[in-house]
Amino acid sequence: MIIPKEKVLELGGWWYDDKVNLPEGIKLIKTNEVELDIKNVKDDILDVGIISEGNSKPFKIVKEELEFYRRKNIAIPRLTPYERIVNRFKYVNNFKVFKDKCFKCDLEILSSYKTSDGFKPYCDDCYKKEIY
Ligand SMILES: [Zn+2]
Repeated sequence: MIIPKEKVLELGGWWYDDKVNLPEGIKLIKTNEVELDIKNVKDDILDVGIISEGNSKPFKIVKEELEFYRRKNIAIPRLTPYERIVNRFKYVNNFKVFKDKCFKCDLEILSSYKTSDGFKPYCDDCYKKEIY
């Protein structure tokens, strides 16, 4: 149930207007108009607002961000920065840790990712051998 702003304020609650802060008159495009391959994305992406596939709100890409995506060969995001933050928290497990075994060497470890949930937790040594 969504309570209207007036009612929330009447009850002594706190209200935040979710404002979109884009330059006036900026051209908006849909994500299907954005090149999937970052190598094909031109600098004019910096001059438009991209409408999120999630909440349909527009967001902008800034120069430093575009440079980062190009350097790391990452596609332009399809969601607003806020939606991306919320999605990242799906992988945060309330900071709980579980006793488990290293996926590689069977050493007993503490991990926030459980083998029984389909993760492959590694012990410190196996992890370092894998990435360095
Ligand atoms: Zn191990």
